[in-house]
Amino acid sequence: MSFLKKLLTRKQKAITEDELLLALKNHEFVFYYQPEWDLKTGKPLGVEALMRWESPTRGIVPPMDFIPLLERAKLINNFSRFLFEQTFADLKEIHTVSPDLFMAVNLSLLQIQEPNFVEMVKNIADEHKIDMKYLECEITETQGLTQDIIESGALDKLAALNVTISMDDFGSGYSSLTHLRQLKIQKLKIDLDFVKTLMEDKKNQTIVDAIIQLGHDLGFPVLAEGIETTEQQEWLKEHGCDYGQGYWFSRALPADQLITFLKNHP
Ligand code: C2E
Ligand code: MG
Ligand code: MG
Repeated sequence: MSFLKKLLTRKQKAITEDELLLALKNHEFVFYYQPEWDLKTGKPLGVEALMRWESPTRGIVPPMDFIPLLERAKLINNFSRFLFEQTFADLKEIHTVSPDLFMAVNLSLLQIQEPNFVEMVKNIADEHKIDMKYLECEITETQGLTQDIIESGALDKLAALNVTISMDDFGSGYSSLTHLRQLKIQKLKIDLDFVKTLMEDKKNQTIVDAIIQLGHDLGFPVLAEGIETTEQQEWLKEHGCDYGQGYWFSRALPADQLITFLKNHP
């Protein structure tokens, strides 16, 4: 086992179900929001909700260290409910400054497959008077994606409610072009690994070009994640990439800081 894996295993073992439940009750989970930009107009189009655990004992815990545990810990329904309650409440505030922005949330396969998941999302949206067209759901490809999700019908139901379904981390992991055909995908997010070495690696440029072309031929807009430099931003814009996200534009920000940021970037 690698050193990193050992370290992560140790860290995960130390977090208990009771601790997570308490953290949920004590409102220690918070969302930071990272804007997504239209590369052509240079304006923000929406924000992606990225979860953090602000633990009084552990400090700020990144999502990948606790979300898989939250899901395994039978807290999944409380977690999903909290996710939509919080992000819709924050979207309401965001809309007072930038009325047309969408809210993108990351969903795991386990969340989507819970019974009545879509009904729950719709009810919370109605409570907050949020039109579902402002919601974008990001899914990541994994080995178990297709069959279970297709059979649950949840993505179809979300799409029928005008929710945008986007494929996150496209090009990495278990990417399968079949998913683009079988699922109601409407947007591709190119994995940040391709963008990281975009300027140095000609192969990455070829792959990114091909993903942009593929997305457009299928009628989807394409977003590049992890843009950190002017050169990357310019290259992507010149090669027809529609949207961008990354530290070059902004890091993920707590809701109040995001609102100040948006006031300065109308
Ligand atoms: P993701 O959805 O692909 O989010 C992008 C990640 O890249 C975020 O990390 C973001 O902070 C980071 N990032 C953004 N711009 C840059 C950049 O320019 N350079 C670099 N190096 N990184 C950048 P974060 O917030 O640590 O999230 C990691 C992953 O955790 C997310 O990947 C997403 O898959 C998952 N995640 C976050 N929040 C949630 C959630 O509420 N539910 C679920 N199921 N997963 C979540
Ligand atoms: Mg994402
Ligand atoms: Mg991603």
